[in-house]
Amino acid sequence: MKELFELATQTKGFMPHEEGMALYQAAIDASNYCAGPMVEIGAYCGKSTIYIGAACDQVNSVLFSVDHHRGSEENQSGWEHHDPELVNPLTGRMDTLPTWRETIESAKLEHCVIAIVGESITVARNWSTPLSFLFIDGGHGEDPAWSDYRNWTPHIALNGILAIHDVFENSKDGGRPPYEIYVDALKSGSYQEISTQGSLRILKKTSHTER
Ligand code: SAH
Ligand code: MG
Repeated sequence: MKELFELATQTKGFMPHEEGMALYQAAIDASNYCAGPMVEIGAYCGKSTIYIGAACDQVNSVLFSVDHHRGSEENQSGWEHHDPELVNPLTGRMDTLPTWRETIESAKLEHCVIAIVGESITVARNWSTPLSFLFIDGGHGEDPAWSDYRNWTPHIALNGILAIHDVFENSKDGGRPPYEIYVDALKSGSYQEISTQGSLRILKKTSHTER
């Protein structure tokens, strides 16, 4: 387990170790609250995938990791979080899938971590299995964040966990949409906050009244 977390810290991405450990613990907890596989939206190079995948390995669950692997707006050339090493030289487009796959292979998590490569909303609209755990860390703009929230959270089972990353109350610290969906989840009355670590918020679904 220690080696696995060591690998996570060396993997490219946007998940501080303390928050990754909180994500891991929340996924373990989710498996005790209810049945069902886990989903992450926003895999990038597999950093957060390792933390949730490690929990799945431990509790015999499965993680479906959703990403089109073309990067978010801020990962594109000319933007703040662009990494030229993740551009496919043949096409000139971002492609994080080869790196993600190497990460999951090195982590020996291929038996319990499954990639779903495509648009989050398309996958969500064709999804029907209740989830024990949902992690939202895909596109952080207004449209993608609200789309992930609206289309994925109805799939969380009763007593299941909703984890949201990059929740910043103060817009000086980062974009607001993840914070707005977090606030909406609490206001809906369907979720109870169970923990916080950095910009990670862990909520538990206590009722099914979706708005
Ligand atoms: N969780 C990762 C970071 C994710 S970055 C870590 O721990 O490092 C956000 C990711 O969301 C990017 O890889 C991007 O390709 C993906 N993404 C953004 N919008 C998306 C969409 N509409 N559908 C699928 N994936 C999307
Ligand atoms: Mg993030």
